[in-house]
Amino acid sequence: MGLICVGIESTAEKLGVGVVTEEGEVLANEKAQYTPPPGSGILPREAAEHHSRELPDLLQRALDKAGVEPEEIDLVAYSQGPGLGPCLRVGATAARTLALALEVPLAPVNHCVAHVEIGKLTARKEGLEFENPVTLYVSGGNTQVIALKSGRYRVFGETLDLPVGNMIDTFAREVGLPHPGGPEVERLARKGEPIELPYAVRGTDVSFSGLLTAALRAYEEGERLEDVCAGIQETAFSMLTEVTERAAAQLGSDEILLTGGVAANQRLSEMIHEMAEERGAEAHTVPSDLAGDNGAMIAWTGILMHKHGLSIPPEEIPKKATVRQRYRVDEAPVPWGKG
Ligand code: AMP
Ligand code: MG
Repeated sequence: MGLICVGIESTAEKLGVGVVTEEGEVLANEKAQYTPPPGSGILPREAAEHHSRELPDLLQRALDKAGVEPEEIDLVAYSQGPGLGPCLRVGATAARTLALALEVPLAPVNHCVAHVEIGKLTARKEGLEFENPVTLYVSGGNTQVIALKSGRYRVFGETLDLPVGNMIDTFAREVGLPHPGGPEVERLARKGEPIELPYAVRGTDVSFSGLLTAALRAYEEGERLEDVCAGIQETAFSMLTEVTERAAAQLGSDEILLTGGVAANQRLSEMIHEMAEERGAEAHTVPSDLAGDNGAMIAWTGILMHKHGLSIPPEEIPKKATVRQRYRVDEAPVPWGKG
């Protein structure tokens, strides 16, 4: 077996520890989720406390599950950003300590790059050798259409206001559904007839704030919750499918990847696959255990970085292993990519 990497994810409400091999085998992918108090969004400090409390056990569980002893670890990776400062610092501190204790290198991973790389890996496992997919990355904190160009992932389209996951979670919270709202809204939407809601696409960008306001108003005015949920899904996901298709057309790409927590939504995945089929393109949706934030994607990207000289040697860890709250995807070098 080649290199073994332990990856720590802690950008927001989820804490993850993954163990992945150089061959791309996921040996463990353990998670713990912080739940905000009812009616509230994520409280960063509380989430960070949750992560520090859970990390020791989660790390142990991941190593046990992987059947890996600490001395077999060749590399540690962590989410360097973007994310919430207090949460990022918990993961970074733990990763630094672990790498220094084991005297192994440390890979500082861009969280968004990791969502794409895990998607390319799972596509490959399905027999799709994606070279440069147009990626729709949709999560609680991000909504972007990205593709590789000149050694970086470039953002070809994004939300002009709320990320789609955040929009759905906010709607859910306001109408009294449990957190995270995505799965709840999906469940209710299956039983509804979509109501019409504002559709806002500008070129390859989208905007969700008008949709959110209109959905909340429709519910207050007595529309059935199921129908509002169906309306949110049909409208928001059509917008996302349209901008992904536009980016694919502009880039002349016939590879489409759907990743991030909202990729777990079957309706969205269905729309993306239908669009790809109409274009004669191949599409892949990341399996749901690897779609939301997780440690395995960080570990896998850490391996890619290490093999391309982007890990930090032990002696430089105390100085270089920082966190970057606003680390944009197009700031991260991707020397392994073709495009
Ligand atoms: P991430 O930030 O990548 O971990 O993704 C978390 C986001 O994914 C949250 O906003 C969830 O509500 C959302 N999510 C999870 N499952 C689903 C689903 N089945 N449908 C829509 N959104 C989902
Ligand atoms: Mg994420």
